[in-house]
Amino acid sequence: MQKLKYESPAIQKMNAGLMNKYGSRTEYEPVKQIDGVAVKDLIAQYGSPLFVISERTIRRTYQNAVRAFKTRYPKVQFAWSYKTNYINAVCKVFHQEGSWAEVVSGFEYRKALGNGVPGNKIIFNGPEKTNEELKLAITNDSLIHIDHFEELYQLIDLSDELGKQPRVAIRVNMDTGIYPMWDRFGFNFENGQAWSAIQKIVQSGKLQLTGLHCHIGTFMLSTDAYAIAVKKLGELAMNAKTQLNTQIQYLDLGGGLPSANTLRGAYLPGSDTIPSVDEFAEAISNALFQIGFSSNELPLLILESGRALIDDAGYLLGSVLANKRLSDGRRATIMDFGVNILFTSFWYEHKISPAQDFTHHTEDMVLYGPLCMNIDVVRQSVNLPLLNRGDQVVVHKVGAYNMTQWMQFIQMRPNVVMIDEKGNTHLIREAETLAYIEQMEKMPEHLKHFSL
Ligand SMILES: *Cc1c(COP(=O)(O)O)cnc(C)c1O
Repeated sequence: MQKLKYESPAIQKMNAGLMNKYGSRTEYEPVKQIDGVAVKDLIAQYGSPLFVISERTIRRTYQNAVRAFKTRYPKVQFAWSYKTNYINAVCKVFHQEGSWAEVVSGFEYRKALGNGVPGNKIIFNGPEKTNEELKLAITNDSLIHIDHFEELYQLIDLSDELGKQPRVAIRVNMDTGIYPMWDRFGFNFENGQAWSAIQKIVQSGKLQLTGLHCHIGTFMLSTDAYAIAVKKLGELAMNAKTQLNTQIQYLDLGGGLPSANTLRGAYLPGSDTIPSVDEFAEAISNALFQIGFSSNELPLLILESGRALIDDAGYLLGSVLANKRLSDGRRATIMDFGVNILFTSFWYEHKISPAQDFTHHTEDMVLYGPLCMNIDVVRQSVNLPLLNRGDQVVVHKVGAYNMTQWMQFIQMRPNVVMIDEKGNTHLIREAETLAYIEQMEKMPEHLKHFSL
């Protein structure tokens, strides 16, 4: 038998806050493989840390969400929210499944075109759209979602210049009972701006008002909020029909459905508290039927769900660099990944599983990342088995927003691999190199040489 390592005893005070009702049981099981591929083989081949994406999980999650809505409402279309994860291989899985593209900048718009999405299946959101970008979108017959009056006038100008009638929608913000209200994007419902924008669009005769859009928040835990949003968009659509003789073709409810992650400070795990996609679909479809459209005039329901469709499919593999005792006796474990690549650790208490067998002795500990920066904390307090240098871990549900919001700070970004449905792994984004990071820099002549 291998001799166990001696660790000196330490007195510590409780830091974990209140116990939850299950006491301090450990929920951790070793996770040694992802979709049948061994974690240790993945790390041996692609290095540590490493993002892993399960193609099978993306497809299953997507198909479940589509089924939840299509069985309740006849006309449904999803549009993949590029900013949630715009690695092209990930986008293409969604497009293969039938998803359109939802983009919030010219850069994302061009990415969607580059991925082969037809222009008329790209939804162009966001507060900043340059003349060039709008011209491209108008020429491609994309669905342009107007954020503010300046953009409305900009579009009227451009439609004159191009001699085309762009297809537009307005983004509407509103009180859905969720506070703080997201009222910085689009036109407000309650103060009449949304209706005023609709009137201006229709009366201009230059733009085709085809849809109404909202995106009421993110990680929404209330299905009622969506029902309220449908009711308010429905009221605008009905008024457009009766007062302006304009038929709204689609209602786009944006994204915002939660993933099963646990928010920081939550009492119970996310998987036990979030409503299911079916519950959201039920609330939304019921509200749609109540607007009063006749069955041959039902608008298309568009959904731009991001995190709910990709979080589960993403894993981050990493390794332990070191352990130490803090001044108050707490155990601290330093990992080779930090907030630079796991941006969502600012919001979530990510579930972390050891990737090898362990003894059942556990301890509350802090998990730090490798950055030389005080805020680099992956988990403030987590009960885990004791991990040793070189041990590997799997962080769960990291598919959303990490591979777009990661920052190149102190460390470079690691490899990203996708495991396909047959269990083959594919490198879909290469780890960065020094040459890659420096390629955009320019050196003024007078700084090229020095001697020390
Ligand atoms: C970010 C965003 C989404 C996706 O949001 P999730 O909360 O991840 O579902 C959808 N639509 C718009 C306009 C967005 O900005």
